[in-house]
Amino acid sequence: MAELDWMVDYEAVIGVEVHAELATRSKMFCSCAVVDATTAQPNIAVCPVCAGMPGVLPVVNQAAVELGVRLALALECEVLPVSIFARKNYFYPDLPKGYQISQYEQPLARNGKLIILTSQGEKAVRIRRVHLEEDTGKLTHVTKDGESYSLIDLNRAGVPLLEIVTEPDLHSAEEVRAYAMALRNILRYCEVNSGDMQKGVMRIEPNVSVRRRGAAQLGTRTEIKNLNSFRALERAVAYEIERQAQLLQEGKEVIQETRGWDEAQGKTVSQRSKEEAHDYRYFPEPDLPPLVIDSDWLEEICRKIPELPVNRWRRLQEQYGLSPYDAEVLTNERIVADYFEAAVSQAPHLAPKTIANWISGEVFGLMNQAGGEFDPHLLPVESLVELLTYLEEGLINQPTAKMILAEMFGSGKRAKTLIKEKGLEQVSDEAQISEWISQVLRENPEQVQTYLNGKEALEQWFFGQVMRLAAGKANPKVVQQALRGQLLKLKEQR
Ligand code: ADP
Ligand code: ZN
Ligand code: MG
Repeated sequence: MAELDWMVDYEAVIGVEVHAELATRSKMFCSCAVVDATTAQPNIAVCPVCAGMPGVLPVVNQAAVELGVRLALALECEVLPVSIFARKNYFYPDLPKGYQISQYEQPLARNGKLIILTSQGEKAVRIRRVHLEEDTGKLTHVTKDGESYSLIDLNRAGVPLLEIVTEPDLHSAEEVRAYAMALRNILRYCEVNSGDMQKGVMRIEPNVSVRRRGAAQLGTRTEIKNLNSFRALERAVAYEIERQAQLLQEGKEVIQETRGWDEAQGKTVSQRSKEEAHDYRYFPEPDLPPLVIDSDWLEEICRKIPELPVNRWRRLQEQYGLSPYDAEVLTNERIVADYFEAAVSQAPHLAPKTIANWISGEVFGLMNQAGGEFDPHLLPVESLVELLTYLEEGLINQPTAKMILAEMFGSGKRAKTLIKEKGLEQVSDEAQISEWISQVLRENPEQVQTYLNGKEALEQWFFGQVMRLAAGKANPKVVQQALRGQLLKLKEQR
Protein backbone atom coordinates (compact mmCIF):
# COMPACT_ATOMS: atom_id res chain seq x y z
CA MET A 1 0.00 0.00 0.00
CA ALA A 2 2.95 2.29 0.64
CA GLU A 3 3.41 2.46 -3.13
CA LEU A 4 0.07 4.17 -3.67
CA ASP A 5 0.66 7.50 -5.46
CA TRP A 6 -1.69 9.55 -3.32
CA MET A 7 0.27 8.66 -0.16
CA VAL A 8 2.83 11.34 -1.07
CA ASP A 9 0.18 13.96 -0.30
CA TYR A 10 0.17 12.85 3.33
CA GLU A 11 2.70 13.14 6.11
CA ALA A 12 2.94 10.96 9.19
CA VAL A 13 3.71 12.58 12.54
CA ILE A 14 4.73 10.38 15.44
CA GLY A 15 5.66 10.94 19.08
CA VAL A 16 6.84 8.05 21.23
CA GLU A 17 6.37 7.15 24.90
CA VAL A 18 8.72 4.53 26.31
CA HIS A 19 8.48 2.80 29.67
CA ALA A 20 11.86 1.57 30.83
CA GLU A 21 12.33 -0.42 34.02
CA LEU A 22 15.20 0.79 36.20
CA ALA A 23 17.60 -2.03 37.06
CA THR A 24 17.62 -1.49 40.82
CA ARG A 25 17.80 -4.25 43.40
CA SER A 26 14.69 -3.11 45.25
CA LYS A 27 11.38 -1.56 44.27
CA MET A 28 10.54 2.14 43.88
CA PHE A 29 8.86 2.79 47.24
CA CYS A 30 9.55 -0.29 49.39
CA SER A 31 12.41 -2.69 50.10
CA CYS A 32 10.99 -5.65 48.17
CA ALA A 33 13.44 -7.23 45.73
CA VAL A 34 12.98 -6.71 42.00
CA VAL A 35 12.71 -10.25 40.62
CA ASP A 36 12.74 -11.60 37.06
CA ALA A 37 9.13 -11.32 35.96
CA THR A 38 9.43 -14.25 33.57
CA THR A 39 10.93 -16.81 35.96
CA ALA A 40 10.08 -15.90 39.56
CA GLN A 41 7.32 -17.65 41.50
CA PRO A 42 4.23 -15.36 41.56
CA ASN A 43 3.85 -12.98 44.54
CA ILE A 44 7.24 -13.91 45.99
CA ALA A 45 8.32 -10.25 46.28
CA VAL A 46 5.39 -8.42 47.88
CA CYS A 47 4.96 -6.39 51.08
CA PRO A 48 2.19 -4.23 52.57
CA VAL A 49 3.54 -1.14 50.73
CA CYS A 50 3.53 -2.55 47.19
CA ALA A 51 0.35 -4.51 47.94
CA GLY A 52 -1.36 -1.21 48.71
CA MET A 53 -2.38 -1.93 52.30
CA PRO A 54 -3.84 0.97 54.26
CA GLY A 55 -1.67 2.83 56.70
CA VAL A 56 1.68 2.26 55.00
CA LEU A 57 4.05 4.92 53.72
CA PRO A 58 6.17 4.94 50.57
CA VAL A 59 9.90 5.78 50.72
CA VAL A 60 11.73 6.81 47.54
CA ASN A 61 14.48 4.48 46.28
CA GLN A 62 17.57 6.63 45.84
CA ALA A 63 19.21 4.21 43.41
CA ALA A 64 16.18 4.50 41.11
CA VAL A 65 16.35 8.27 41.17
CA GLU A 66 20.06 8.10 40.34
CA LEU A 67 19.46 5.83 37.33
CA GLY A 68 16.65 8.10 36.14
CA VAL A 69 18.84 11.17 36.43
CA ARG A 70 21.69 9.38 34.67
CA LEU A 71 19.49 8.62 31.70
CA ALA A 72 17.99 12.10 31.68
CA LEU A 73 21.49 13.58 31.56
CA ALA A 74 22.51 11.18 28.79
CA LEU A 75 19.50 12.49 26.86
CA GLU A 76 20.79 16.04 27.42
CA CYS A 77 17.75 16.95 29.50
CA GLU A 78 17.42 19.73 31.97
CA VAL A 79 17.04 17.98 35.35
CA LEU A 80 14.64 19.86 37.61
CA PRO A 81 16.12 20.66 41.04
CA VAL A 82 12.70 19.91 42.52
CA SER A 83 10.20 17.48 41.06
CA ILE A 84 6.89 16.32 42.45
CA PHE A 85 5.36 12.86 42.77
CA ALA A 86 1.68 12.71 41.91
CA ARG A 87 -1.15 10.24 42.21
CA LYS A 88 -2.57 9.04 38.93
CA ASN A 89 -5.93 7.58 39.87
CA TYR A 90 -7.60 4.74 38.04
CA PHE A 91 -9.18 1.48 38.96
CA TYR A 92 -7.78 -1.73 37.58
CA PRO A 93 -7.08 -5.00 39.41
CA ASP A 94 -3.34 -4.88 38.59
CA LEU A 95 -3.03 -1.63 40.54
CA PRO A 96 -3.46 -2.48 44.22
CA LYS A 97 -3.61 1.07 45.59
CA GLY A 98 -6.16 2.29 43.05
CA TYR A 99 -3.63 4.86 41.94
CA GLN A 100 -0.14 4.83 40.50
CA ILE A 101 2.55 7.08 41.93
CA SER A 102 3.94 8.97 38.98
CA GLN A 103 5.11 12.48 38.15
CA TYR A 104 2.93 14.91 36.30
CA GLU A 105 3.29 18.67 36.36
CA GLN A 106 6.86 18.75 37.58
CA PRO A 107 8.69 15.77 36.09
CA LEU A 108 12.24 14.68 36.89
CA ALA A 109 13.61 16.20 33.68
CA ARG A 110 12.61 17.80 30.37
CA ASN A 111 13.80 19.31 27.08
CA GLY A 112 16.43 16.84 25.95
CA LYS A 113 17.38 15.28 22.67
CA LEU A 114 18.53 12.01 21.18
CA ILE A 115 20.44 11.65 17.89
CA ILE A 116 19.18 8.80 15.74
CA LEU A 117 20.76 7.21 12.65
CA THR A 118 18.53 6.48 9.69
CA SER A 119 19.10 5.78 5.99
CA GLN A 120 18.65 9.55 5.52
CA GLY A 121 21.50 10.31 7.93
CA GLU A 122 21.58 11.70 11.45
CA LYS A 123 18.55 13.33 13.03
CA ALA A 124 17.89 14.91 16.42
CA VAL A 125 14.67 13.87 18.16
CA ARG A 126 13.53 16.22 20.92
CA ILE A 127 12.75 14.65 24.29
CA ARG A 128 9.79 16.35 25.92
CA ARG A 129 10.02 14.86 29.41
CA VAL A 130 11.47 12.07 31.52
CA HIS A 131 9.66 11.09 34.69
CA LEU A 132 9.73 8.49 37.44
CA GLU A 133 6.87 6.17 38.29
CA GLU A 134 6.08 2.64 39.43
CA ASP A 135 5.08 -0.43 37.44
CA THR A 136 1.79 -2.30 37.89
CA GLY A 137 1.20 -5.95 38.73
CA LYS A 138 0.49 -8.58 36.11
CA LEU A 139 -2.87 -10.20 35.42
CA THR A 140 -3.25 -13.61 33.83
CA HIS A 141 -6.67 -14.47 32.48
CA VAL A 142 -7.56 -18.12 32.77
CA THR A 143 -10.40 -20.21 31.40
CA LYS A 144 -10.64 -23.66 32.95
CA ASP A 145 -13.53 -26.14 33.09
CA GLY A 146 -15.85 -23.55 31.59
CA GLU A 147 -14.94 -21.05 34.29
CA SER A 148 -13.13 -17.76 33.67
CA TYR A 149 -11.09 -15.96 36.25
CA SER A 150 -7.97 -13.82 36.59
CA LEU A 151 -4.80 -14.40 38.56
CA ILE A 152 -2.82 -11.50 39.96
CA ASP A 153 0.97 -11.45 40.40
CA LEU A 154 2.25 -8.43 42.30
CA ASN A 155 5.98 -9.12 41.84
CA ARG A 156 6.12 -6.31 39.29
CA ALA A 157 3.92 -3.90 41.25
CA GLY A 158 6.09 -1.03 42.44
CA VAL A 159 9.10 -1.82 40.24
CA PRO A 160 10.77 1.50 39.33
CA LEU A 161 9.89 2.78 35.88
CA LEU A 162 11.12 5.68 33.84
CA GLU A 163 8.83 7.17 31.22
CA ILE A 164 10.54 8.92 28.32
CA VAL A 165 8.34 11.02 26.03
CA THR A 166 9.39 12.64 22.74
CA GLU A 167 8.02 15.63 20.89
CA PRO A 168 6.13 14.58 17.73
CA ASP A 169 9.34 14.70 15.66
CA LEU A 170 9.26 11.36 13.85
CA HIS A 171 7.81 10.84 10.39
CA SER A 172 8.10 7.19 9.39
CA ALA A 173 8.14 3.67 10.77
CA GLU A 174 11.86 3.52 10.01
CA GLU A 175 12.53 6.62 12.11
CA VAL A 176 10.48 5.26 15.00
CA ARG A 177 12.45 2.04 14.91
CA ALA A 178 15.76 3.97 14.77
CA TYR A 179 14.63 6.03 17.76
CA ALA A 180 13.73 2.95 19.79
CA MET A 181 17.04 1.31 18.93
CA ALA A 182 19.06 4.41 19.85
CA LEU A 183 17.16 4.69 23.13
CA ARG A 184 17.73 1.02 23.93
CA ASN A 185 21.46 1.45 23.23
CA ILE A 186 21.70 4.42 25.54
CA LEU A 187 19.73 2.60 28.27
CA ARG A 188 22.23 -0.24 28.05
CA TYR A 189 25.31 2.02 27.88
CA CYS A 190 24.13 3.80 31.03
CA GLU A 191 23.31 0.46 32.69
CA VAL A 192 19.80 1.69 33.37
CA ASN A 193 18.41 -1.63 32.23
CA SER A 194 19.34 -4.78 30.31
CA GLY A 195 17.42 -3.83 27.16
CA ASP A 196 15.92 -7.32 27.27
CA MET A 197 12.67 -6.48 25.50
CA GLN A 198 11.28 -10.00 25.70
CA LYS A 199 11.30 -9.58 29.48
CA GLY A 200 9.33 -6.36 29.11
CA VAL A 201 12.01 -4.06 30.54
CA MET A 202 11.40 -1.62 27.67
CA ARG A 203 7.88 -1.07 26.30
CA ILE A 204 7.16 1.28 23.44
CA GLU A 205 3.99 3.26 22.72
CA PRO A 206 3.97 5.25 19.50
CA ASN A 207 1.38 8.02 19.01
CA VAL A 208 0.63 8.18 15.32
CA SER A 209 -1.19 10.82 13.30
CA VAL A 210 -1.38 11.67 9.61
CA ARG A 211 -2.01 15.04 7.99
CA ARG A 212 -1.99 16.55 4.54
CA ARG A 213 1.53 17.56 3.68
CA GLY A 214 2.06 21.20 4.55
CA ALA A 215 -0.90 21.38 6.94
CA ALA A 216 -0.24 23.61 9.94
CA GLN A 217 -2.06 21.52 12.51
CA LEU A 218 -1.38 18.01 13.67
CA GLY A 219 -3.88 15.33 12.72
CA THR A 220 -5.87 13.29 15.23
CA ARG A 221 -3.63 10.68 16.82
CA THR A 222 -4.01 7.13 17.97
CA GLU A 223 -1.76 5.54 20.56
CA ILE A 224 -0.52 1.99 20.08
CA LYS A 225 0.00 0.29 23.43
CA ASN A 226 2.87 -1.75 24.77
CA LEU A 227 4.99 -2.90 21.86
CA ASN A 228 7.97 -4.94 22.95
CA SER A 229 9.93 -5.74 19.81
CA PHE A 230 11.41 -3.53 17.11
CA ARG A 231 9.74 -5.61 14.46
CA ALA A 232 6.27 -5.26 15.97
CA LEU A 233 6.91 -1.54 16.46
CA GLU A 234 7.90 -0.95 12.85
CA ARG A 235 5.05 -3.03 11.45
CA ALA A 236 2.44 -1.49 13.74
CA VAL A 237 3.47 2.07 12.89
CA ALA A 238 3.60 1.36 9.14
CA TYR A 239 0.15 -0.23 9.32
CA GLU A 240 -1.30 2.63 11.34
CA ILE A 241 0.07 5.28 8.97
CA GLU A 242 -1.52 3.53 6.01
CA ARG A 243 -4.80 2.96 7.80
CA GLN A 244 -5.12 6.62 8.77
CA ALA A 245 -4.03 7.92 5.35
CA GLN A 246 -6.60 5.66 3.73
CA LEU A 247 -9.35 7.04 5.99
CA LEU A 248 -8.39 10.63 5.19
CA GLN A 249 -8.19 9.86 1.48
CA GLU A 250 -11.74 8.53 1.63
CA GLY A 251 -12.87 11.71 3.35
CA LYS A 252 -13.39 9.95 6.68
CA GLU A 253 -12.10 10.90 10.11
CA VAL A 254 -9.52 9.31 12.35
CA ILE A 255 -10.90 8.63 15.82
CA GLN A 256 -8.67 9.44 18.77
CA GLU A 257 -8.24 6.15 20.57
CA THR A 258 -5.91 3.59 22.06
CA ARG A 259 -5.12 0.67 19.79
CA GLY A 260 -3.35 -2.65 20.23
CA TRP A 261 -1.13 -4.53 17.80
CA ASP A 262 -2.47 -7.90 16.70
CA GLU A 263 0.63 -9.80 15.67
CA ALA A 264 -1.24 -12.70 14.09
CA GLN A 265 -3.45 -10.53 11.91
CA GLY A 266 -0.71 -7.98 11.26
CA LYS A 267 -2.94 -5.05 12.12
CA THR A 268 -3.82 -2.59 14.87
CA VAL A 269 -7.19 -2.97 16.58
CA SER A 270 -9.23 -0.50 18.62
CA GLN A 271 -9.03 -0.94 22.41
CA ARG A 272 -10.42 2.18 24.00
CA SER A 273 -11.82 5.40 22.54
CA LYS A 274 -11.34 8.93 23.89
CA GLU A 275 -14.81 8.88 25.50
CA GLU A 276 -13.85 5.84 27.55
CA ALA A 277 -10.48 7.37 28.48
CA HIS A 278 -9.67 7.61 32.18
CA ASP A 279 -9.87 10.86 34.02
CA TYR A 280 -6.81 10.37 36.16
CA ARG A 281 -7.58 13.19 38.61
CA TYR A 282 -3.88 13.80 39.22
CA PHE A 283 -2.89 15.44 42.49
CA PRO A 284 0.40 15.73 44.38
CA GLU A 285 1.23 12.61 46.42
CA PRO A 286 0.64 13.68 50.03
CA ASP A 287 2.81 10.87 51.44
CA LEU A 288 6.00 11.95 49.66
CA PRO A 289 7.99 15.16 49.96
CA PRO A 290 9.13 16.95 46.79
CA LEU A 291 12.11 15.19 45.18
CA VAL A 292 15.15 17.44 45.52
CA ILE A 293 18.25 16.89 43.40
CA ASP A 294 21.09 19.13 44.50
CA SER A 295 23.83 20.24 42.16
CA ASP A 296 26.58 18.23 43.88
CA TRP A 297 24.69 15.00 43.41
CA LEU A 298 23.91 15.97 39.83
CA GLU A 299 27.60 16.47 39.12
CA GLU A 300 28.48 13.18 40.75
CA ILE A 301 25.95 11.34 38.58
CA CYS A 302 27.18 13.20 35.50
CA ARG A 303 30.72 11.91 36.08
CA LYS A 304 29.47 8.31 35.93
CA ILE A 305 28.02 8.66 32.43
CA PRO A 306 30.13 6.76 29.91
CA GLU A 307 30.95 7.97 26.41
CA LEU A 308 27.59 7.66 24.67
CA PRO A 309 26.91 5.55 21.58
CA VAL A 310 26.66 8.39 19.06
CA ASN A 311 29.85 10.06 20.32
CA ARG A 312 31.69 6.79 20.24
CA TRP A 313 30.32 6.15 16.75
CA ARG A 314 31.80 9.47 15.58
CA ARG A 315 35.12 8.90 17.34
CA LEU A 316 35.60 5.40 15.96
CA GLN A 317 35.22 6.76 12.44
CA GLU A 318 37.70 9.57 13.03
CA GLN A 319 40.26 7.71 15.08
CA TYR A 320 40.38 4.43 13.16
CA GLY A 321 39.08 5.40 9.72
CA LEU A 322 36.09 3.08 9.99
CA SER A 323 33.05 3.52 7.76
CA PRO A 324 29.85 4.84 9.40
CA TYR A 325 28.37 1.37 9.02
CA ASP A 326 31.31 -0.47 10.61
CA ALA A 327 31.41 2.05 13.44
CA GLU A 328 27.67 1.61 14.03
CA VAL A 329 27.90 -2.16 14.21
CA LEU A 330 30.69 -1.89 16.79
CA THR A 331 29.12 0.83 18.95
CA ASN A 332 25.57 -0.53 19.26
CA GLU A 333 26.82 -2.27 22.37
CA ARG A 334 29.34 -0.85 24.78
CA ILE A 335 30.84 -4.26 25.46
CA VAL A 336 31.56 -4.77 21.74
CA ALA A 337 33.09 -1.31 21.34
CA ASP A 338 35.28 -1.98 24.39
CA TYR A 339 36.34 -5.30 22.90
CA PHE A 340 37.23 -3.71 19.58
CA GLU A 341 39.26 -0.93 21.16
CA ALA A 342 41.08 -3.36 23.44
CA ALA A 343 42.04 -5.43 20.40
CA VAL A 344 43.23 -2.36 18.47
CA SER A 345 45.37 -1.17 21.35
CA GLN A 346 46.93 -4.61 21.80
CA ALA A 347 47.66 -4.93 18.10
CA PRO A 348 49.11 -1.74 16.63
CA HIS A 349 50.54 -3.91 13.85
CA LEU A 350 47.05 -4.83 12.60
CA ALA A 351 44.73 -2.60 10.59
CA PRO A 352 41.70 -1.54 12.69
CA LYS A 353 39.51 -2.28 9.69
CA THR A 354 40.76 -5.90 9.68
CA ILE A 355 39.96 -6.27 13.38
CA ALA A 356 36.53 -4.66 12.85
CA ASN A 357 35.75 -7.09 10.02
CA TRP A 358 36.70 -10.14 12.06
CA ILE A 359 34.62 -9.01 15.02
CA SER A 360 31.50 -8.11 13.06
CA GLY A 361 31.85 -11.18 10.83
CA GLU A 362 33.31 -14.34 12.36
CA VAL A 363 33.14 -13.40 16.02
CA PHE A 364 29.52 -12.17 15.85
CA GLY A 365 28.62 -15.36 13.99
CA LEU A 366 30.10 -17.54 16.73
CA MET A 367 28.52 -15.45 19.52
CA ASN A 368 25.15 -15.84 17.81
CA GLN A 369 25.51 -19.59 17.61
CA ALA A 370 26.43 -19.64 21.29
CA GLY A 371 23.21 -17.89 22.31
CA GLY A 372 23.29 -14.33 21.02
CA GLU A 373 24.80 -12.27 23.82
CA PHE A 374 28.26 -10.90 23.12
CA ASP A 375 30.40 -12.52 25.81
CA PRO A 376 34.12 -11.63 25.72
CA HIS A 377 34.91 -14.59 27.99
CA LEU A 378 34.15 -16.93 25.12
CA LEU A 379 37.04 -15.41 23.18
CA PRO A 380 39.48 -13.28 25.16
CA VAL A 381 40.77 -10.27 23.23
CA GLU A 382 44.37 -11.60 23.48
CA SER A 383 43.34 -14.82 21.78
CA LEU A 384 41.79 -13.01 18.84
CA VAL A 385 44.80 -10.72 18.52
CA GLU A 386 47.18 -13.69 18.63
CA LEU A 387 45.29 -15.45 15.87
CA LEU A 388 45.07 -12.39 13.63
CA THR A 389 48.79 -11.78 14.14
CA TYR A 390 49.61 -15.27 12.86
CA LEU A 391 47.37 -14.62 9.89
CA GLU A 392 49.04 -11.29 9.23
CA GLU A 393 52.49 -12.87 9.45
CA GLY A 394 51.44 -15.56 6.99
CA LEU A 395 51.92 -18.39 9.48
CA ILE A 396 48.40 -19.51 8.61
CA ASN A 397 46.05 -18.63 5.78
CA GLN A 398 42.53 -17.21 5.92
CA PRO A 399 40.54 -20.47 5.83
CA THR A 400 42.79 -21.95 8.50
CA ALA A 401 42.36 -18.85 10.67
CA LYS A 402 38.58 -19.18 10.49
CA MET A 403 38.73 -22.83 11.41
CA ILE A 404 41.12 -22.21 14.32
CA LEU A 405 38.94 -19.35 15.57
CA ALA A 406 35.94 -21.65 15.76
CA GLU A 407 38.00 -24.15 17.79
CA MET A 408 39.35 -21.47 20.11
CA PHE A 409 35.88 -20.14 20.74
CA GLY A 410 34.58 -21.12 24.15
CA SER A 411 37.36 -23.69 24.64
CA GLY A 412 40.02 -21.41 26.09
CA LYS A 413 42.57 -23.01 23.73
CA ARG A 414 45.39 -20.93 22.32
CA ALA A 415 45.85 -20.41 18.60
CA LYS A 416 49.46 -21.56 18.73
CA THR A 417 48.58 -24.87 20.37
CA LEU A 418 45.79 -25.62 17.91
CA ILE A 419 47.93 -24.77 14.90
CA LYS A 420 50.72 -27.06 16.16
CA GLU A 421 48.37 -29.89 17.16
CA LYS A 422 46.81 -29.97 13.75
CA GLY A 423 49.99 -29.38 11.80
CA LEU A 424 48.41 -26.37 10.14
CA GLU A 425 51.43 -24.18 10.38
CA GLN A 426 52.54 -22.87 7.03
CA VAL A 427 56.17 -23.36 6.14
CA SER A 428 58.14 -20.20 6.82
CA ASP A 429 61.54 -21.85 6.72
CA GLU A 430 63.53 -19.87 4.17
CA ALA A 431 65.87 -22.72 3.16
CA GLN A 432 62.90 -24.96 2.35
CA ILE A 433 61.13 -22.20 0.48
CA SER A 434 64.25 -21.27 -1.52
CA GLU A 435 64.55 -24.88 -2.54
CA TRP A 436 60.97 -24.90 -3.86
CA ILE A 437 61.61 -21.69 -5.75
CA SER A 438 64.81 -23.03 -7.29
CA GLN A 439 62.96 -26.14 -8.39
CA VAL A 440 60.22 -24.10 -10.08
CA LEU A 441 62.75 -21.89 -11.86
CA ARG A 442 64.77 -24.94 -12.95
CA GLU A 443 61.75 -26.73 -14.37
CA ASN A 444 60.50 -23.70 -16.33
CA PRO A 445 63.46 -22.35 -18.32
CA GLU A 446 61.27 -20.84 -21.07
CA GLN A 447 59.22 -18.78 -18.65
CA VAL A 448 62.40 -17.65 -16.93
CA GLN A 449 63.75 -16.49 -20.31
CA THR A 450 60.54 -14.60 -21.11
CA TYR A 451 60.65 -13.03 -17.66
CA LEU A 452 64.22 -11.91 -18.12
CA ASN A 453 63.26 -10.44 -21.51
CA GLY A 454 60.99 -8.05 -19.71
CA LYS A 455 57.71 -9.81 -18.93
CA GLU A 456 57.72 -8.86 -15.22
CA ALA A 457 54.15 -10.02 -14.77
CA LEU A 458 55.38 -13.61 -14.80
CA GLU A 459 56.52 -13.14 -11.21
CA GLN A 460 52.92 -13.76 -10.17
CA TRP A 461 52.84 -16.98 -12.18
CA PHE A 462 56.06 -18.23 -10.54
CA PHE A 463 54.54 -17.44 -7.19
CA GLY A 464 51.53 -19.58 -8.04
CA GLN A 465 53.75 -22.47 -9.09
CA VAL A 466 55.74 -22.36 -5.86
CA MET A 467 52.58 -22.32 -3.77
CA ARG A 468 51.29 -25.28 -5.74
CA LEU A 469 54.51 -27.19 -5.24
CA ALA A 470 54.21 -26.48 -1.51
CA ALA A 471 50.63 -27.74 -1.59
CA GLY A 472 49.45 -24.34 -0.34
CA LYS A 473 51.35 -24.76 2.91
CA ALA A 474 54.05 -22.16 2.31
CA ASN A 475 53.95 -18.79 4.03
CA PRO A 476 53.01 -16.52 1.11
CA LYS A 477 54.88 -13.56 2.53
CA VAL A 478 58.14 -15.46 2.81
CA VAL A 479 57.62 -16.97 -0.66
CA GLN A 480 57.05 -13.56 -2.18
CA GLN A 481 60.19 -12.12 -0.64
CA ALA A 482 62.43 -15.04 -1.44
CA LEU A 483 61.12 -15.25 -5.00
CA ARG A 484 61.78 -11.57 -5.58
CA GLY A 485 65.32 -12.09 -4.25
CA GLN A 486 66.05 -15.04 -6.54
CA LEU A 487 64.63 -13.32 -9.62
CA LEU A 488 66.71 -10.25 -8.89
CA LYS A 489 69.81 -12.41 -8.65
CA LEU A 490 69.02 -13.98 -12.05
CA LYS A 491 68.67 -10.50 -13.57
CA GLU A 492 72.02 -9.44 -12.16
CA GLN A 493 73.75 -12.57 -13.40
CA ARG A 494 72.72 -11.88 -16.96
P1 ADP B 1 -0.77 11.55 26.78
O1 ADP B 1 -0.62 10.44 25.80
O2 ADP B 1 -0.50 11.11 28.16
O3 ADP B 1 -2.01 12.32 26.61
P2 ADP B 1 0.72 13.69 25.47
O4 ADP B 1 -0.49 14.33 24.96
O5 ADP B 1 1.74 14.55 26.11
O6 ADP B 1 0.43 12.55 26.52
O7 ADP B 1 1.42 12.97 24.26
C1 ADP B 1 2.10 11.81 24.32
C2 ADP B 1 2.93 11.60 23.06
O8 ADP B 1 2.12 11.79 21.92
C3 ADP B 1 4.08 12.56 22.90
O9 ADP B 1 5.19 11.82 22.45
C4 ADP B 1 3.61 13.52 21.86
O10 ADP B 1 4.70 13.99 21.10
C5 ADP B 1 2.73 12.65 21.01
N1 ADP B 1 1.66 13.38 20.31
C6 ADP B 1 0.79 14.25 20.83
N2 ADP B 1 -0.07 14.66 19.86
C7 ADP B 1 0.28 14.03 18.72
C8 ADP B 1 -0.22 14.03 17.38
N3 ADP B 1 -1.28 14.74 17.02
N4 ADP B 1 0.39 13.24 16.48
C9 ADP B 1 1.45 12.48 16.83
N5 ADP B 1 1.94 12.44 18.05
C10 ADP B 1 1.39 13.20 19.00
ZN1 ZN C 1 7.01 -4.18 48.58
MG1 MG D 1 -0.07 8.64 26.09
